[in-house]
Amino acid sequence: MTGVQHQKWWGWGVEGITFTHEDKPKLAPFVMEKVGIDLNAPGTPPPAFEDLKVPASLLDGDLASVLRAAVGDAYVGTDDMDRVVHTYGKGLVDLVRVRASDLPRVPDAIVYPADEDQVRQVVDAVVAADGVLIPFGGGSNISGSLTPPVDEKRVVVSLDLGRLNRVLEVDEAAGLARVQAGVLGPDLEDQLNSRGWTTGHQPDSFRHSTLGGWVATRSSGMQSDKYGDISDITRGMRVVLPGKVIALRPLPSTSSGPSVREMILGSEGRLGVITEVWVNVHRLPKNREIVAYLFPTWAAGLAAMHAITESDASPTVTRVSDANETAFSLSMQKPSKGLAAKAGPILFNVLERRGWDLNAACLSYIGYEGDDDHLKYEKSIVGKIVRKHGGIKLGKGPGALYDQKKFDTPYIRDFLLDIGALGDVSETAAPWSKLMDLYANTVRAATDAFAELGVMGFVMCHLSHSYHSGACLYFTFAFPPSSDVAAEQIEQYWVVKRAIQQSFVDNDATISHHHGVGTDHAHWLEDDISSAGTEVMAGLLRAVDPGRNLNPGTLL
Ligand code: FAD
Repeated sequence: MTGVQHQKWWGWGVEGITFTHEDKPKLAPFVMEKVGIDLNAPGTPPPAFEDLKVPASLLDGDLASVLRAAVGDAYVGTDDMDRVVHTYGKGLVDLVRVRASDLPRVPDAIVYPADEDQVRQVVDAVVAADGVLIPFGGGSNISGSLTPPVDEKRVVVSLDLGRLNRVLEVDEAAGLARVQAGVLGPDLEDQLNSRGWTTGHQPDSFRHSTLGGWVATRSSGMQSDKYGDISDITRGMRVVLPGKVIALRPLPSTSSGPSVREMILGSEGRLGVITEVWVNVHRLPKNREIVAYLFPTWAAGLAAMHAITESDASPTVTRVSDANETAFSLSMQKPSKGLAAKAGPILFNVLERRGWDLNAACLSYIGYEGDDDHLKYEKSIVGKIVRKHGGIKLGKGPGALYDQKKFDTPYIRDFLLDIGALGDVSETAAPWSKLMDLYANTVRAATDAFAELGVMGFVMCHLSHSYHSGACLYFTFAFPPSSDVAAEQIEQYWVVKRAIQQSFVDNDATISHHHGVGTDHAHWLEDDISSAGTEVMAGLLRAVDPGRNLNPGTLL
């Protein structure tokens, strides 16, 4: 037992938490109408682990002895469950493949170092043996950035950072904390909160992703409007490379040439193992509120988010869903009782009388933090903007509900897979001036892809993470594939995913705002950063890792 917690081998999160639609009576009719699937039909659960065919480990005696000497016998794992858990992330393709026992290449061993010195020994030993080393955080990525190349003949070692999970120091005068890279979100925040501090970084995968993984994939959390993306939060770090360690002190800013800190951000294990990160931390806010609003149209919601960004308000969260995502959210509601049960229909009646088309209405959440006066000030600015764009305030209740449920929603994807539907996401960022066209063209691209496949598909979108010059658009899509053969399902998935990603580059948007490149988005990297850009990146990777020993399957 290593003491390191992992997610389920076959899906999101931990055993014992599952998605159910039985307490959400509107969901089954909604899903039937949109994708023609009966949520009450018997599903096909994942196979038993014993039925998987796991290839034998290639770890040889010499390397095994060096690794065991470095980290201790108990911290070198070769059992099948451990190896399968470290083979994939949690993208749709990962989930379909693992359920289908599609395991052409799994890591040969998992090592669990306790400190940076042990990480150094493991990296040097694997590179000296001309093996492949893949750093592993929480295994939550959805870009295919953990999987060994199918034809990799060399020994593959997954280096699990899970034992490096401590906050090492807090520099209270500077608002900085030095933290080991393997810490999971809740553990990090518990350690900081108990001392009155927070990073404010809350990706939806918070419970099952690590600080090192966030840095290595350039993650962004829901409160990024206030706290910044992980690239802003990260101020310094230590990174183990073959034979050396990069040590970057935490600095508020610096002009020392091209930023090495930025080179490590998003490096997806290709430039070494991040062992420590200096992060910005903030005093815990006195109040924290998420307030829900409703806009008559998507265009009005988008314009309001832009106006908020340009205003004196500085909310933590700016988020608005399109009409499809709004309808989906409403279908996920549990029945309310008493006055609340009457409030919804009354409100919708009033809005219809005011001329709203309720099918076009768009739900929005705005987050606020600070003392009472600050909240009052921010809410009054936002309130005026919402009204100016024809919107109304729904209140704190729905906002609090969204905040509580956000970490449970991801479990729906496994449930959908059980009943035969594929669901996944693609997200991007673009300047404000491009967002409306990007949105319309991407929805069209997905819809055309569903038509090409001859399936009933559903695509929905929200805006989140606003910046001075633009914002992130996050698309979710689902459809029942016309085949139950895993390889054919994956082909069909790619028809839709490719159409969406291509629409991003065709509409001057990035290939990913916060999920990284991995293998899934690598095809479009050159479109994103130009061929000269990929040459520079390739040169950097070659210089650090000439033998392609460090996670060679990802990025470039
Ligand atoms: P892993 O998946 O273990 O690894 C990802 C990559 O980073 C790999 O290439 C790995 O080699 C490398 N890596 C990991 N640790 C290190 C290290 N210490 N040193 C060097 N390289 C390392 N992302 C967001 O940004 N925001 C979200 O809101 C969000 N929501 C999600 C919701 C769901 C349901 C899912 C499935 C994913 C979501 N993600 C989100 C994506 C994912 O959680 C992020 O990419 C996350 O940053 C990955 O962290 P991890 O620790 O799980 O890394």
